Amino acid sequence: MAEHEQVHEHVRVAVVGSGFGGLGAAVRLRREGITDFVVLERSGSVGGTWRDNSYPGCACDVPSHLYSFSFAPNPEWPRTFSGQEHIRAYLEHVTDTFGLRPHLRFDSEVKRMTWDTERLRWEIETVRGTLTADVVVSATGPLSDPKVPDIPGLDSFPGKVFHSARWDHDYDLTGKRVAMIGTGASAIQIVPSIQPKVGRLTLFQRTPAWVMPRMDRAISGVERALHRAVPATTRLRRGLLWGIRELQVQAFTKHPDELGFVERIAKRNMGAAIKDPALRAKLTPDYRIGCKRILLSSTYYPALARPNVDVVASGLGEVRGSTLVAADGTEAEADAIIFGTGFHVTDMPIAERVVGADGRTLAETWKGGMEALRGGTAAGFPNFMTVIGPNTGLGNSSMILMIESQLNYMADYLRQLNVLGGRTALDPRPAAVRNWNHRVQERMKRTVWNTGGCTSWYLDASGRNTTVWPGTTAEFRRETRRVDLAEYQVLRPAPAESTATATPTATAADADAGVSA
Ligand SMILES: Cc1cc2nc3c(=O)[nH]c(=O)nc-3n(C[C@H](O)[C@H](O)[C@H](O)COP(=O)(O)OP(=O)(O)OC[C@H]3O[C@@H](n4cnc5c(N)ncnc54)[C@H](O)[C@@H]3O)c2cc1C
Repeated sequence: MAEHEQVHEHVRVAVVGSGFGGLGAAVRLRREGITDFVVLERSGSVGGTWRDNSYPGCACDVPSHLYSFSFAPNPEWPRTFSGQEHIRAYLEHVTDTFGLRPHLRFDSEVKRMTWDTERLRWEIETVRGTLTADVVVSATGPLSDPKVPDIPGLDSFPGKVFHSARWDHDYDLTGKRVAMIGTGASAIQIVPSIQPKVGRLTLFQRTPAWVMPRMDRAISGVERALHRAVPATTRLRRGLLWGIRELQVQAFTKHPDELGFVERIAKRNMGAAIKDPALRAKLTPDYRIGCKRILLSSTYYPALARPNVDVVASGLGEVRGSTLVAADGTEAEADAIIFGTGFHVTDMPIAERVVGADGRTLAETWKGGMEALRGGTAAGFPNFMTVIGPNTGLGNSSMILMIESQLNYMADYLRQLNVLGGRTALDPRPAAVRNWNHRVQERMKRTVWNTGGCTSWYLDASGRNTTVWPGTTAEFRRETRRVDLAEYQVLRPAPAESTATATPTATAADADAGVSA
């Protein structure tokens, strides 16, 4: 090798992110016999969501025996709904158990990934240097980059400001006047956790949430001993939790009119704690339950009824020094503002950093809305797969089920590349992507997320639902079991490999599909 040629690292697969998605991908790669891979993580430890969200009260909304990997059951879950620290510890444990440490590259934020059309590989620029990979598995998370609204005058606020996903544990809230902005899943966990210690809590509520009772309890020593001694009981428990949620799906996707009785339970949950009719009116949603994520809490409403809490039924509109002004003109003084305002979901931040075959970024390609084939691959971005991509989210069950389905797809994708042999890449055909998304959007029309009369983070700027899967998790599992080569163009290097651009080659599958490359 000539001296001026730089030695650089090349891997078969680069996984980006080390939350459930990235770690799951790593386990699956090893199980498929692939060890030539790295996991690039911008932070200093694994855990993703469950590392970054350390706010008081942070916990899962799905029972732990379902919100965990099927291949790594945990008989020791301490509660039916585990807290953040237990889920984070579980992911550390998975990392050790499956020997993932040698693959992890911490403090390695991916800045840019560019498809090399000649060499058929990804060039990956991280803050620590560059590497190349045949395949990229992007698992940067659907809820990983906090979103703070652009509030006029926020710069003038003299107190403390932070987002729920970047909690400042050095800041003592005791006795302070705290403004909580937002009433989503994080806010309703934070409110009851901080209400007893703060001086005054003002909740800015743009839209009230439907909140169901949270059936949380400690898992007894006897149950845990049983799960340890008879592992089949853990599987049975998981199976029951899964089955109940699968049965609920039809109501969300096809018969939102059947959800009225669920609203009555939620109203009873509120009525038991909120006696003041004016406050009850403020907290009662005017849209169908399920349209926005149904929240679970048995402590949120009791906290709102406490004398040191005010609910402002309007979003934060402006900040004037230490005075917070709601959109309806209501004013409140605050020492600290906590934003529980969610994440960049439909404008997935990594998309800005991925440059495809035609030189456009994934964000540019998705300008009109995110679209992928079977939730994972995008036309013009060969050998690039997103874990929890477009329309893979769930309204009522565990995201780990969807992640594992996508990992089945990833495993088959890599098998297919091996079978094709040589230097090969798969690029989804635009028609296949369109067909898939047409089907998804047709099914979406009847769902509660589209018809329930709310605006939610499931919808993008144009009102299209590009986040939720409009079916059961079993259906998605079937749809992602195998890669159908007819849905892809097979790319191989052009004959004069060093100079020519790669070209699609006809395969038997192409012929079967009747599509020309
Ligand atoms: C507070 C909260 C509660 C939740 N509760 C539930 C629940 O009850 N049930 C449920 O099903 N789901 C829940 N979710 C959704 C949850 O995000 C998913 O279930 C799941 O954890 C997502 O895993 P992930 O690996 O895809 O993403 P994440 O866990 O977000 O991991 C993404 C990783 O990618 C890294 N990363 C991002 N960009 C880059 C980059 N450019 N370079 C390198 N690394 C990068 C991040 O640092 C992070 O470690 C919750 C989310 C939040 C925020």
